[in-house]
Amino acid sequence: MFILQGFMKLFVFDLDFTIWDAGGTWCDCTYPPYQKKGNDIIDVDGRMISMYPDILKILLKLSESNKMISAASRTNAPDIADQLMKMFDIHHYFHHPQIYPGSKVSHFKIIQQNFNIDYSQMVFFDDEYRNIDEVSKLGVTCEFLEDGGVHWRHVEPYL
Ligand SMILES: [Mg+2]
Repeated sequence: MFILQGFMKLFVFDLDFTIWDAGGTWCDCTYPPYQKKGNDIIDVDGRMISMYPDILKILLKLSESNKMISAASRTNAPDIADQLMKMFDIHHYFHHPQIYPGSKVSHFKIIQQNFNIDYSQMVFFDDEYRNIDEVSKLGVTCEFLEDGGVHWRHVEPYL
């Protein structure tokens, strides 16, 4: 695939199995209260929620490059996703995050209105093919994270 360097303005990330692995499940299957343990978060049952290793680097490099960052998640527990983002101290990187159940087409329509940039200048990272399939039809460039987790190698080509 030919990628025009520097063309992409907005980078949108799914949360579960893209930004973090909530102990082999989704964050809506974990329960408060949460505790920070080193770089990870532990839920009430001792389940460990970890960010993938390149996340902080990705968010920092994108901000330094003046790229815009958002999130599109269809979790059933937006309040928990929000709390985890704050505990990981990554919430401040994401602008106009759309976190609620439903088709991500509706998430992207609101993102498009909020940022007022063309779908062609957005790139979206997600581990579920149904989301990639729907969002790509809007004209958004999509990266399917087949093995879960967004890594630097997925993002770097778009910078
Ligand atoms: Mg996911």
